[in-house]
Amino acid sequence: MSKKYDVVVIGAGPAGYVAAIRSAQLGLTTACVDQWIRNKDNKPALGGTCLNVGCIPSKALLDSSEQFHKAQGQFPAHGIRMEKLNMDVGVMISRKDKIVSTLTSGIEQLFKANNVERIAGHATLLPDTKVAIGDPKSGGSTQIVVASNVILASGSEPTPLAAAPVDGARIVDSAGALEFDAVPKRLGVIGAGVIGLELGSVWRRLGSETVLLEALDTFLPTVDQDITKDAARHFKRQRLDIRLGALVESTSLNNESVHVRYRDENGTQELEVDRLIVAVGRRPFTKDLAKPEVGLKLDERGFIEVDEKCQTNIPGVYAIGDVVRGPMLAHKGSEEGAAVAELIANGHAHVNYETIPWVIYTAPEIAWVGKTEQMLRQEGTPYRVGAFPFAATGRARAMEEPIGSVKILAHAQTDRILGVHILGPHASELIAEAVLAMEFSASAEDLARTVHAHPTLSEAIHEAALAVDNRAIHKYTANPKK
Ligand code: FAD
Ligand code: AMP
Repeated sequence: MSKKYDVVVIGAGPAGYVAAIRSAQLGLTTACVDQWIRNKDNKPALGGTCLNVGCIPSKALLDSSEQFHKAQGQFPAHGIRMEKLNMDVGVMISRKDKIVSTLTSGIEQLFKANNVERIAGHATLLPDTKVAIGDPKSGGSTQIVVASNVILASGSEPTPLAAAPVDGARIVDSAGALEFDAVPKRLGVIGAGVIGLELGSVWRRLGSETVLLEALDTFLPTVDQDITKDAARHFKRQRLDIRLGALVESTSLNNESVHVRYRDENGTQELEVDRLIVAVGRRPFTKDLAKPEVGLKLDERGFIEVDEKCQTNIPGVYAIGDVVRGPMLAHKGSEEGAAVAELIANGHAHVNYETIPWVIYTAPEIAWVGKTEQMLRQEGTPYRVGAFPFAATGRARAMEEPIGSVKILAHAQTDRILGVHILGPHASELIAEAVLAMEFSASAEDLARTVHAHPTLSEAIHEAALAVDNRAIHKYTANPKK
């Protein structure tokens, strides 16, 4: 007889594992099926893209390379001098692997503690919310389970580029870029989006001559353009060579290198690199996820179609995370996971898509929430702007990082905060205050009247909020508000 569950979750990335844990916390009998096999030991691993080849390993390498970069560039200003600084790439990669395995086994422990049944294998949705589970390696079917509710959280995979087929050695995708055994002398990156910039930064800081080829003419078009202008200046100073309007048309492998041909406004250009990272985006992963007779509806881009409550067109089947519309971000998927569990258990739940923070973990970091100035202009919303540079805060000076700024956009009549944009040190942490403020529908005045500890980086948020009303203290203000 088939085993029965209240909830079966397919996929144990940040969307799926959170959905499974929350379902179990709410008293639902829950199983989570995941097919991920870790390359290094050929063993099943929980955590999906995020923990195994995404958020966590990339941040581990970003942190290592940032420490190296600081030791080279900033330590002398503090009076710290080191003879012969060098980088042991092997140690850096092992540290990253250890962090990943600690965290993935942490999820295993959480599953055990919460009574989530973990099933390693490939899951396929059958009619009547049944799920066939096959061996993760051979794919052969081993069991069928029955669920009252199924949550699809199968995630995404790198979008391939026909002009640059990944060979896993010289041409790699984002996962391969976390495994180089040495610092490439010349590195090419196709795509100057979030992932391309982060991975390009890791290897640039360690010494690679790095060229990013970006097909679009605009740099980071979804980010506030004041912020991107300033960011582009800092990246140029770091010698990240970002070439916009550069469409990669073909590549060929030579003995030791990769030859890249791309087209820009001046015609066909050539580039020779030792390693090439393809980072042209991600696409939803739905391979063999549902039998055709189930009739699961996908949209024209291959995402599973869902309503605002993450319900698919099949009763009792939900979908969350990267495999559905919305930003491909771990925390967005996790929030959807918790919300769907609550919807199943209690009949109501809500995700506020207006206040999802975005972060690009470059140095300086870029973080934002809500609308950009270009969006507000386009929709004709009246707004006021308050901006404040980190260079005018004591803490950023003390840290030797007086770069970037905070920009707050507030409604011109109601003063409600519509967007907050940060470029600077620890922007990824600072943005949380802005998210909370927006979640509580705060006005810029609310932030301006909130006491911020001194000296902290968060004072730049306080001053930017004061600047919305033309009364910042630590920068000269002509005709300040009386
Ligand atoms: P995934 O994490 O992709 O997990 C899906 C899981 O489902 C996988 O384990 C997969 O094997 C399994 N699966 C798929 N189909 C089946 C099936 N039929 N049966 C069984 N199992 C199946 N996001 C951030 O928010 N912050 C970051 O800093 C960040 N950095 C990133 C850096 C890189 C290099 C990359 C590549 C991504 C990064 N992301 C980041 C994005 C983040 O990783 C994704 O948004 C997140 O992993 C999506 O979670 P998910 O649970 O929807 O899917
Ligand atoms: P993201 O979607 O943020 O991961 O960014 C991926 C980037 O890759 C986008 O900005 C695309 O414009 C860019 N891109 C896609 N195809 C190509 C190509 N053939 N050459 C250069 N850049 C590309």
